[in-house]
Amino acid sequence: MSSDVIESVIQGGTLYIVATPIGNLDDLSGRAIETLRRVDLVAAEDTRHSQRLLQHLGLRKDMLALHDFNERERTASVVNRLRSGVSIALISDAGTPLISDPGFVLVREARAQGVTVSPVPGSCALIAALSAAGLPTDRFLFEGFLPAKRSGRRAALSAVAREAATLVFYESPHRILDTMTDIVEVMGNEREVVLARELTKTFETFYSGTAVVVSENLRADPFATKGEFVVMIHGAEPEPEEAPGLDVEHMLSLLVDALPVKQVARIAAELSGLPRNELYRRAQAIKDGQRER
Ligand code: SAM
Repeated sequence: MSSDVIESVIQGGTLYIVATPIGNLDDLSGRAIETLRRVDLVAAEDTRHSQRLLQHLGLRKDMLALHDFNERERTASVVNRLRSGVSIALISDAGTPLISDPGFVLVREARAQGVTVSPVPGSCALIAALSAAGLPTDRFLFEGFLPAKRSGRRAALSAVAREAATLVFYESPHRILDTMTDIVEVMGNEREVVLARELTKTFETFYSGTAVVVSENLRADPFATKGEFVVMIHGAEPEPEEAPGLDVEHMLSLLVDALPVKQVARIAAELSGLPRNELYRRAQAIKDGQRER
């Protein structure tokens, strides 16, 4: 190991952002353990949940709860404690804090007040998932959780449907089947999808294939809706050339007023020569946009 690394000596007045495992406790790094051992205070999303991790490490620590519902009101006092020289480790229930987890308000304010903020990196579900999915990783767009309601979820998927980078989402087990239905409808049957379920745990599973095949395989698997998911979608292929002189967007918006989206896609494909899936997605996005107005 090179000698230019941060020593595992805790500096007073520093906020350490410590990644914890996303399933397998052996993924906790030696530096993370040492940091948790030595800091004055551990700020945790759920103190009871994190207590179990600390107990597993044989640590008894002063703890403080910092979650989505109290982060704003607690930030000033936590930053004051840091400024008075107290060292604090921020952890979340699993993985890297701030990545779809609390901590942003605190880190931003700590930095604004001149407090040193130092990462102790480790597990992160989206990075673990991408590293093993076999999808392009040179560019990816992490969108966090999709909206819970169908119309919002479809609109969010439509907004990124033409994105060329690999798309990454977090999803809960009770919404995964509905989300797969929406991916098929918005992005088409043929879009390549990889789902990573229960990473680093006993029932770690990757489902991969076209959107429609992944959706069917998931539905056929009785354990599919148990556990946590990272959803990854291959980026869009470049848009095919539109027929010269034809305003496809205008044509679609006229047709969606009069016909169901499926029929709009069929007629527009005939007239423009563009793929039906693509036109279905665009027509659906126009319809969703109209509904939200
Ligand atoms: N901060 C965490 C991280 O670094 O990945 C993410 C926290 S977010 C509240 C929880 C979501 O992450 C889950 O709903 C799931 O989408 C994903 N996730 C967490 N652990 C996972 C695992 N072991 N396998 C697959 N996905 C996981």
